[in-house]
Amino acid sequence: PRNPQRSDLVKAAQDALELIRVSAPPNIEIRFQSRIDAAFADLDGTLFFQTLLNLCHNAFEAIGDRPGVVALEISRAERDTLSDIPDEALGAIRVDVSDTGPGIPEDLQAKIFEPFFSTKPVGKGTGLGLTIVRNSVEECRGSVELVSTPGQGTRFSLFFPEMPALS
Ligand code: ADP
Ligand code: MG
Repeated sequence: PRNPQRSDLVKAAQDALELIRVSAPPNIEIRFQSRIDAAFADLDGTLFFQTLLNLCHNAFEAIGDRPGVVALEISRAERDTLSDIPDEALGAIRVDVSDTGPGIPEDLQAKIFEPFFSTKPVGKGTGLGLTIVRNSVEECRGSVELVSTPGQGTRFSLFFPEMPALS
């Protein structure tokens, strides 16, 4: 069940990150940067929180015990980044979650969004995290992009339609 509300995505991300920081292992530094003060999107707050939590927890597990960085960055993107953007949208909002982990081998990159695909030991990963991420973003008429370079790290970019603030 999804309950979309027009909400400030910058604030929702900051609130989520405050909680995520608490669950971050001490070897991982969490960075947040927003290039915009506020940007509204039609989001289910719980699903958006779950989305960021899934991406950050995957990043924590990828980094493991080594020192590493997980960075969340918010910016605006070209309107045509989204193929099915509502007419009343102002443009696109971009949320990048990147990590300094080992990256994802190229032959696996197309598979990781499939339900139950996991490289983690049985009992540790359900393989549903990224399926849920993609479904909840697409329910908001958004999209997900992955850029990962083995040995360098991984970046998931989420794009959402930016909607006018409700007056
Ligand atoms: P799970 O975490 O339960 O394995 P996910 O759907 O969240 O399931 O992720 C699927 C797979 O994608 C993971 O098992 C892992 O191999 C890969 N993966 C996801 N995020 C990252 C990341 N940030 N760095 C490296 N690999 C990742
Ligand atoms: Mg996961």
